[in-house]
Amino acid sequence: MPELPEVETVARRLQERLPGARIAGAEVFWARTISYPQPPERFVREVTGGEVARVGRRAKSVVVHLADGRVLTVALRMTGALIVAGPGAAADPHARVVFSLADGRELRFRDPRKFGRVGLYPGRGRRRVAEPFARHGPEPLAPSFSAARLAARLRRRSARLKTLLLDQSFIAGVGNIYADEALWRARLHPLRRADTLTEDEIRRLHRAVRAALREGLAGGGASYRDYVDPDGEPGLAAERMRVYRRTGEPCFRCGRRIERIVVGARATHFCPRCQPAPPEPGAAR
Ligand SMILES: [Zn+2]
Repeated sequence: MPELPEVETVARRLQERLPGARIAGAEVFWARTISYPQPPERFVREVTGGEVARVGRRAKSVVVHLADGRVLTVALRMTGALIVAGPGAAADPHARVVFSLADGRELRFRDPRKFGRVGLYPGRGRRRVAEPFARHGPEPLAPSFSAARLAARLRRRSARLKTLLLDQSFIAGVGNIYADEALWRARLHPLRRADTLTEDEIRRLHRAVRAALREGLAGGGASYRDYVDPDGEPGLAAERMRVYRRTGEPCFRCGRRIERIVVGARATHFCPRCQPAPPEPGAAR
């Protein structure tokens, strides 16, 4: 599933080619892809005529800002991709929504497994519907996301670190890959309880989350599953993973074999030496 670096990569590439484009029409091929407004015919009617001002990202969604203040949100989820197709490009059987641009290109939301969602929301201050990201936590790469802010959010939380990092209301944009990578960098076991971290460990976690995401971003995003960028190219970062999907391979820091456990139904990879297990419940500290 695309996480912050993959979605940010998609948004940046679209920002290079979409601003100024006018949406001349749209076709919805899978009604459930549209999250708002309903029905899809209304979505099509309302998005038609919109002009792209800029493309950004919030959490794991691409956010297309229209010139009139409205926002088109695209949650890629498991297999979603946004593709800019030139005039005359062959039809894509996995395209769920196709926006025809006035210059002859198409912006296609391709999504083989159909978990992705596309919505069109009013601009700030004019919202009669819930703000699409109201329940999301802070952006970890934002300058305002300080170690002190992370510390405040970790306090009084008894959840395991892995579970908490995946919780989008705790921190936005981190998923299974970068949660494992961040915990390895921070030398913290995925099952550590949030409220047991020392100040130094919190600082390490803060640095590690940002470093893991930045490196993923520098590599153009991970290329697992069906992730491709708007040119249809896979990302590069998969070869740079320190622990993710490296079960049984040596730790880059200490040489011990990477282990895999399941936390909250998610495969979790860690080094048993660099990331020492928390004491058993009830054990003397
Ligand atoms: Zn190690």
